[in-house]
Amino acid sequence: QPGLYIVATPIGNLGDITLRALDVLRRCDGVACEDTRVTGKLLKHHGISQPLWRYDDHSGEKDRARLVDSMRSKAVALVSDAGTPLVSDPGYRLVSDAREAGVPITTLPGACAAIAGLTLSGLPNDRFLFAGFLPAKEKARREALDELAGLDATLVFYETGPRLTKSLAAIADWDPQRSVCVARELTKLYEEARRGSADELFEHYTDHPAKGEIVLLIGPPEERTASEADIDDLLRELLAAMSPSK
Ligand code: SAM
Repeated sequence: QPGLYIVATPIGNLGDITLRALDVLRRCDGVACEDTRVTGKLLKHHGISQPLWRYDDHSGEKDRARLVDSMRSKAVALVSDAGTPLVSDPGYRLVSDAREAGVPITTLPGACAAIAGLTLSGLPNDRFLFAGFLPAKEKARREALDELAGLDATLVFYETGPRLTKSLAAIADWDPQRSVCVARELTKLYEEARRGSADELFEHYTDHPAKGEIVLLIGPPEERTASEADIDDLLRELLAAMSPSK
């Protein structure tokens, strides 16, 4: 079937690809990808051979229009180097133009580092906000954190090894009470999800510099579960309100 197929690929462990993804990659007419070498390796691993077209959202308007136009007669798969396309990866403009052009689009969900990190962290996940990469510059990073300060949600960021300790120091300075998790090398041999305060994690990763790929998570401002003391107070108030002398 012609159209656009948004295909998630593994974030480390090559086994994390769906049967449907392999089927589409095998049967489509070509694959739009960030890096033809990276995607070429993945396809080769599965014995698939396809034309590969380099695409990112900075590709020119004309290239994108041509690619969208080809979707009227061809099945085009969109992949990124790893994980779910569009999530801190190219594809947003392509999908938005394809929708506008009335091209059929479907999505093949799969691995996504933000979700993998969230599920492994043990932090509250009933409400979360994914906010991409924290800015590299100190002032912009602080502004980004301040903007999210009031949210009653776990905050999820992508992070790099060289920047991790700077971000942890900034978080310690911003709100030292919060629970933080560094989820590293997810689905790979040295997978790790380390919890602590930003200060504790800062010390740990200063002594043991973090290698590989990282998701950084910050728990909500305060634990939402009421403590026993809170419940005792509440009961006392209720009893007082019910007492006949009132
Ligand atoms: N689209 C991808 C996804 O769905 O996860 C994310 C692409 S983004 C350009 C790359 C960032 O994702 C890395 O810098 C890292 O923060 C995070 N990441 C990707 N793979 C990871 C892994 N295996 N473990 C931890 N973080 C990972």
